[in-house]
Amino acid sequence: VKSIAVLTSGGDSQGMNAAVRAVVRSALFYGLEVYAVQRGYYGLINDDIRKMDLRSVGDIIQRGGTILQTARCPEMKTLEGQQKAAENLRKRGIDGLVVIGGDGSYQGAYKLTQQGIKTMGLPGTIDNDIPFTDVTIGFDTAVSIVVDAINKLRDTMSSHERSSIVEVMGRHCGDIALYAGLASGAEAILVPEVKFDLQKVSCRMKENFMNGKKHSIIVVAEGVGKGENIAKELHDCCGIDSRVTVLGHIQRGGTPTHNDRILASRLGDFAIRKLLEGESGKGCGIIKGELVTTDIEKIVNSKKQINMDMYQLALRLSQ
Ligand code: ADP
Repeated sequence: VKSIAVLTSGGDSQGMNAAVRAVVRSALFYGLEVYAVQRGYYGLINDDIRKMDLRSVGDIIQRGGTILQTARCPEMKTLEGQQKAAENLRKRGIDGLVVIGGDGSYQGAYKLTQQGIKTMGLPGTIDNDIPFTDVTIGFDTAVSIVVDAINKLRDTMSSHERSSIVEVMGRHCGDIALYAGLASGAEAILVPEVKFDLQKVSCRMKENFMNGKKHSIIVVAEGVGKGENIAKELHDCCGIDSRVTVLGHIQRGGTPTHNDRILASRLGDFAIRKLLEGESGKGCGIIKGELVTTDIEKIVNSKKQINMDMYQLALRLSQ
């Protein structure tokens, strides 16, 4: 590759800017020409592409969101859209593309590989739902935001001897709920990957209250259902009075943690080095501390598994 472009796509996450910075600076370091695409695949198809230099990515490592913005782009799912996207790159002599985003964005990257573009995917999503990487860019920050919110809820819940239900993001992947729940000493963690019996959960809560527990925190991943419905069921089952907090998009904002910045920096630079080594159609990740690439095709056809050891640990400690 001689010239590359970078884009962010799908839902944004903290650390995307740090990843953009790393891609741009590393590519320039290795003597490549670098372009940025605004608004993900929408900008790619509509030719919103500009040249980048070292200063273009100054003062962004600490910022949430993405300076390149992101957009949903249904047109990218059509062959016509994919050809247009590839053509807009080719006419500038751009032969490599780094896509920072989630599962859907990876699918788009795979389609561009079939159009002859050399692609690399970086896992940018707070949900941690991409297989073949232990963590995604933004997950660490999202978990710390949830933990911080639960700390605050805990203060007021213990004053009132109430239970608190916290609904967090994660439609198919319960990792935010699991890790934030474990880190905040939640009494129950409800995730889409593991079946649970709400009646048992509520009986145990009732028992714990009677034995002197002053508050309880239940963390629910949105994929399980609405926090409001869980609250109603707990009430109907054992008369437990709980308050629901839906954290929503707050989980996607704010300054990235140092872990996310470092992860994004390592992965961004790694993507460029792998492109230079001739790899393409790969997603970059980190497994047990080692940077790895995996075929995008394999990534999009696999499902992230929940860490059952972590889930069991949370159960043992929530007595
Ligand atoms: P995420 O990347 O966070 O999973 P989306 O699923 O919304 O977010 O995907 C982001 C964009 O990727 C979509 O708007 C679309 O342009 C592109 N995309 C998603 N799925 C495909 C697909 N099957 N083929 C081509 N492009 C796709």
